Amino acid sequence: MDDTLYPLSLGINLACRKNIEEFMLHHLDMEESEVPRLCLELYRDYGTTMAGLKALGYEFDNDEFHAYVHGRLPYELLKPDPVLRNLLLSMPQHKIIFTNADEAHVARVLSRLGLEDCFQGVICFETLNPPAYKSNAAQILCKPSVEAMRAAVRIANVDPKKTMFFDDSVRNIANGKAAGLHTVIVGRSSLVPGADYALNSIHNIREAIAEIWEDEGEHVEQIIQSSAVETAVRA
Ligand SMILES: [Mg+2]
Repeated sequence: MDDTLYPLSLGINLACRKNIEEFMLHHLDMEESEVPRLCLELYRDYGTTMAGLKALGYEFDNDEFHAYVHGRLPYELLKPDPVLRNLLLSMPQHKIIFTNADEAHVARVLSRLGLEDCFQGVICFETLNPPAYKSNAAQILCKPSVEAMRAAVRIANVDPKKTMFFDDSVRNIANGKAAGLHTVIVGRSSLVPGADYALNSIHNIREAIAEIWEDEGEHVEQIIQSSAVETAVRA
């Protein structure tokens, strides 16, 4: 969802990182000079900075963390995207959001973009890390781990061989491929390891991956053919 359904250049990602750094500084009492480096290192090593903080033994409430880092984002930067909305609604496939973010953030982003009715499901932080375990779970399940990819495939109840995974993160794409998914790197014009397609912007999807809509054509053709057969048999 983030930096995939809207561009990285909007600055939401940067604002999010600033909020995480402030959380580390004010809620976890970390040394100010250490925060930026640790924030990036934990993100690199554990998938998300939050997962890294938990793994290091820091104790905080997951909902409070999300309210602090996402709740204060400049959501007004996200504007309705009717072009993307029409593209998504015209796709015949089942579409699911798969994000490391919490459900409140998902709802706000989709609502701001005007895409809240374009997806049939959401797999988010709470899905992969059920609240019942939140207080004592030191290990957080999140992208880019292959386990998180496999969990998402299982929860969505899809065949990875028939599923396309869109993401802006190079490492998510590599592990999505490892989990057997077809992959599309978004926000880049050239392929990265494990990517089947590259889209500079999600808006280019129709030109770049026409087969998404061809599926529908085949399906319609099949229906026409089978009714032709039926008609022929009846005649
Ligand atoms: Mg993303």
